[in-house]
Amino acid sequence: MCCLVEALGGLAGGAIGGIAPDVLEPAISPNHRKLAHSVATAGAISLAKVAEWQDMCRRRGATATQTALSCAAGTRERADAEFAAFGWSFLAGFIAGFFAGYASHLALDAVTARGLPLWGLG
Ligand SMILES: [Zn+2]
Repeated sequence: MCCLVEALGGLAGGAIGGIAPDVLEPAISPNHRKLAHSVATAGAISLAKVAEWQDMCRRRGATATQTALSCAAGTRERADAEFAAFGWSFLAGFIAGFFAGYASHLALDAVTARGLPLWGLG
């Protein structure tokens, strides 16, 4: 169950990360690529501690699952713990998907005629 939830989180994160640069800087002019589309942002994304954040989410999800299993079926505490476990698993996937989607957007934009600005602050 947790793997399926994490995969769904990755799917959602990839879809949202993939469009995020153009949501932040809509393609309403040929020069719309600024900071969100820059080489600097691509570098910052590459430094993100995605695996570390995923591990943290998975650990918290496992703790929530253990809490849920220790609660009696049908109680509010169990439902809350199950919801937390679901959320942490979803977030573990979402993080990886978001950064992969964002990076792939920048990679594809980089090979176009206009490419990416270095900083995009001008
Ligand atoms: Zn773009």
